Amino acid sequence: MYCMILHETGAPLVFEELPDPIPGPGEMRIQVEACGVCRTDLHVVDGELPDPKLPVIPGHEIVGRIDALGPRVEGIELGARVGIPWLGSTCGVCAYCASGRENLCDRPVFTGYTRNGGYATHAIAAARYAFPLREEGAAAALAPLLCAGLIGWRSLRFAGSAKTLGLYGFGAAAHIIVQAARNQGRQLFAFTRPGDAAAQAFALRLGAAWAGGSDEKPPEPLDAAIIYAPVGELVPAALASVRKGGIVVCAGIHMSDIPSFPYRLLWQERRIVSVANLTRQDGIEFLAFAAQAGIETRTKTYPLEEANAALADLRAGRLEGAAVLLPRPF
Ligand SMILES: [Zn+2]
Ligand SMILES: [Zn+2]
Repeated sequence: MYCMILHETGAPLVFEELPDPIPGPGEMRIQVEACGVCRTDLHVVDGELPDPKLPVIPGHEIVGRIDALGPRVEGIELGARVGIPWLGSTCGVCAYCASGRENLCDRPVFTGYTRNGGYATHAIAAARYAFPLREEGAAAALAPLLCAGLIGWRSLRFAGSAKTLGLYGFGAAAHIIVQAARNQGRQLFAFTRPGDAAAQAFALRLGAAWAGGSDEKPPEPLDAAIIYAPVGELVPAALASVRKGGIVVCAGIHMSDIPSFPYRLLWQERRIVSVANLTRQDGIEFLAFAAQAGIETRTKTYPLEEANAALADLRAGRLEGAAVLLPRPF
């Protein structure tokens, strides 16, 4: 197999040939058709997340086909199309797993972080954590649903019944969630980097009712806000934009420090919560919803070997929608 692999954090990924991986008990091997590039991959590469497996192949928005099965995998067909998300596996026995909160498992395995991911021609995954995918749609268009869509969906659920919803950071997740939220009849307010006219125009084209800079106030108070950008300053900004009883949902895995802010911004039962990982149930629900709601993704594709360029474009905010890697047959 071929892959783009991280040997040490802070260094570029390296293109390498490795022996084809062999699936173990309960695992399957996937021939990768496409793998999305998520902001979490940047946090892994930059060493902002603790204890990555090193070396590690990043990537946790994998679309591909099963090309080998390990022992004790039943009811799964070779050749079937599957999606492999961030949640690689869970222990199944801790208090969180036992109470339907496997996203908070005490001993989780994460794809592209604590096990190898999809910046590769082949990847190994635990069969029970893979999602069956529909045949319709290009692999590149489906890939961003596996994390940007899925974590976005979980964060949207945390926004409850909010009718007016702010999205801070208009990248891969927001461009999917604006469509989902519109489908649910919500009004969307998009906050981008100040002065990013292209991102604001993109948000309006996707149905946002208003778009402006993150330093601006929305035209009306928000019932809820979701923060996708990894910028701690956005927390007090979002709190200042939500109405009494409103909620601010932090959807990223990493964020710069949140500056201190006056208590009055939190007062009157405003809340701040974070969203961590996903459950398999989130994936089943969201993938069905995305198909039924006709959610479309905007992607920029790169050959696998250009993963570093894709990461650089994501870091610089040069993308409209999501970056996706396409391994070619070597
Ligand atoms: Zn567990
Ligand atoms: Zn992700």
